[in-house]
Amino acid sequence: MVGHCRCSVLPSCLGRYGLVRSGKRAGPFKANFGQGRSHAGQTIVVVFQGWSAPKSMTTFRPNRRTKDAAGLARPSAGVAKASASVIPPRDPDRLAKLAELVSRQRFETKDILFNQAEIHRLTLSLSRTIDRPNFRRVDVDDLRRMIRMYDERFFGGRLLPHAEAEGLTFGLSKRMTRIAGKMVTHYSTDRIRGPRKFELVLSSTLLFQTFRDVDRPVEVTGRRCRDRLEAMQRIAEHELVHLTEMLIWNDGNCDQARFQSIARRYFAHTDYQHDLITQQERAARKFNLRVGDAVRFRFQDRWLVGRINRITRRATVLVEDPKGETFSDGGRYLRYYVPLEHLKRA
Ligand SMILES: [Zn+2]
Repeated sequence: MVGHCRCSVLPSCLGRYGLVRSGKRAGPFKANFGQGRSHAGQTIVVVFQGWSAPKSMTTFRPNRRTKDAAGLARPSAGVAKASASVIPPRDPDRLAKLAELVSRQRFETKDILFNQAEIHRLTLSLSRTIDRPNFRRVDVDDLRRMIRMYDERFFGGRLLPHAEAEGLTFGLSKRMTRIAGKMVTHYSTDRIRGPRKFELVLSSTLLFQTFRDVDRPVEVTGRRCRDRLEAMQRIAEHELVHLTEMLIWNDGNCDQARFQSIARRYFAHTDYQHDLITQQERAARKFNLRVGDAVRFRFQDRWLVGRINRITRRATVLVEDPKGETFSDGGRYLRYYVPLEHLKRA
């Protein structure tokens, strides 16, 4: 059983839908990319970079709506340090105390901004991979260290020991092409009261696509980000609020009041969505390419012509071929996964 923070806010537009394979329901594709493997000779991956995909489930989606009114954090009530004793998993008394703290804690905006800036600075000085604000490499250790710094500075080191007592892992995903982050709760049995493990994952793809070659202001959680590291911090903070809610209340949702209150009081978030640069936006702005466009590309020393059917990390291009799958328009097509840089308008 896999639970997850149910970010229920869907992007209003998943782009123009392309053709679907015959017999498949029309609508947003859930097609499996096959992770670079060829399926019965019908799927051809032009460029493959392997990765392992996280389990599932979405949380933090692109911003497609107007923002909420900003709320201001109030003076800090101070945070006591966690006790050093070993924490039993899902201990109701301890979680009740944590709930009380999280429900009442307020920080002054200047303290929030100071601590966020300190985490930015310390990440740059401590990380082996993040060597500049618009870093080019990131490791799961960077995320783990970052979350720990948040726990120490904002929760008095009380939060993570509870999550770790149950099981907490971190991840970076290249396959999350629209969702900036997710916090998945895995239940080992079918019982929602049973043992749990948490998995906190950020999208490295969205981070690296932003502050790259499309120049526009970027907001995450209602806060303007000046660089990639700030964007990573805002996403990590958002997912940390999800973890907090799941840990304490075993539910939560970022479009609801309790989440937004925590996110505002702890991290000065005024929104729960992001407008990081998706590959669809990058395709349109930088390459003038959209779903439905006719394109050509080189494949094994010849030029192929097809139509863009989907854009995720790469464009899925359908090329007419009698050996291909039948799609909803009755035609038979082979699918090619092509980096945007390799496509030319036909
Ligand atoms: Zn969320």
